[in-house]
Amino acid sequence: MLDKPRLLTPGPTPTPERVRLAMAHDMIHHRKPAFKAIMAAVQPKLRELFGTAQPVLPMACSGSGVMTAAVHGLFKPGEKVIVVEGGKFGQRWREIAAVRGLSVVSVVVDWGRPVTPAEVEAALNEHPDAAGVLVQLSETSTGTLHPVREIAGLTAGRDTLLVADGISAVSISPCPMDEWGIDCLLTGSQKGLMLPPGLGLIALSERAWRKADTVPPSCFYFNFRGELTNLEKQQTLFTTPVSLIIGLNESLDMFREVGLETVYRKQWALTQMARRGVTAMGLEPLVKEGYTWGLTSVLLPEGVPATGVLRVAAERFGVIMAAGQDHLKERIIRIGHMGWLDWADLAAGLHALAEGFRACGGYIGARDVLEQALAAYQAGLAVMPGTEI
Ligand SMILES: *Cc1c(COP(=O)(O)O)cnc(C)c1O
Repeated sequence: MLDKPRLLTPGPTPTPERVRLAMAHDMIHHRKPAFKAIMAAVQPKLRELFGTAQPVLPMACSGSGVMTAAVHGLFKPGEKVIVVEGGKFGQRWREIAAVRGLSVVSVVVDWGRPVTPAEVEAALNEHPDAAGVLVQLSETSTGTLHPVREIAGLTAGRDTLLVADGISAVSISPCPMDEWGIDCLLTGSQKGLMLPPGLGLIALSERAWRKADTVPPSCFYFNFRGELTNLEKQQTLFTTPVSLIIGLNESLDMFREVGLETVYRKQWALTQMARRGVTAMGLEPLVKEGYTWGLTSVLLPEGVPATGVLRVAAERFGVIMAAGQDHLKERIIRIGHMGWLDWADLAAGLHALAEGFRACGGYIGARDVLEQALAAYQAGLAVMPGTEI
């Protein structure tokens, strides 16, 4: 088949032609004026995206790399942290913290349910010595949106840093770092930012910087102060992933041209479209309330394995989606709809899902799945929670 390959996974995500062409630029040297001009142009746009007056540090690593940098740079061995653990990436926080020698208190929630602020508050009250709370804005293994704004309200008045993994949230749903009171916000290039994998981005609040300055470096590579000193010279501590920064400059321009609110609104509308589409098929979204805006997890009935459905979607329609992780591996399909994807790509995804489901023995009665989904998309464009529109 000559189908266009469609990557509807929760990372990596498709990259716009405009970004790819920018990245095809001749190599330039990362310590010379031509590159420094690009770094200088990127920084204010990044701060706008993160909603912060603080510097946003680019680092050559995947998302887990900047998660590691956060834990090593902000906490000393023996300190205590509270981890919200409701999926694969919450577990990753715990694992990274354990390697760092921190004492970890896990707030465990069922996969697919957001933590409640009361659960975090109870943990904070029980462990007033906690130096940090580590949480995902969006838990990508399930598609759950944790209430980070409310959690920030709890950590702000305490001597506890709030570290938020925004890898599948930044540029997907609003998370203004300074306004909410997040102490450390981080993301990676291959999700909402519409870039290839390989670039991490991280920002610290003023009080997080003060804390970081009291933590002796635990390794040579991750060094916030060293990165900041270099950023002031429009450089990075080590060799910069030059092409990714050039691509980032372009994708941030694309966001700027339409405005962040339009970006979020589109993400919200795509989420409504995905949820209505799967519901119309007679399937059930895994997350009932408090769902993320960049992916939708769909529960499959017993006896219909996710890998079978995914194989049909890929082989017959060129649509690549993701299975679940761990115990949910065969039970859910994760439809990624973050970044450079639009209603037509998602319509292709929903069609491929329905056909894959049928081919694996599932039954879909409704004939107007796509019409319903597209109506939800249109309605979603008009209403987005959390804004004045
Ligand atoms: C993708 C993702 C990660 C892992 O990022 P890598 O780039 O694969 O290291 C961590 N946290 C969340 C929330 C993610 O979505």
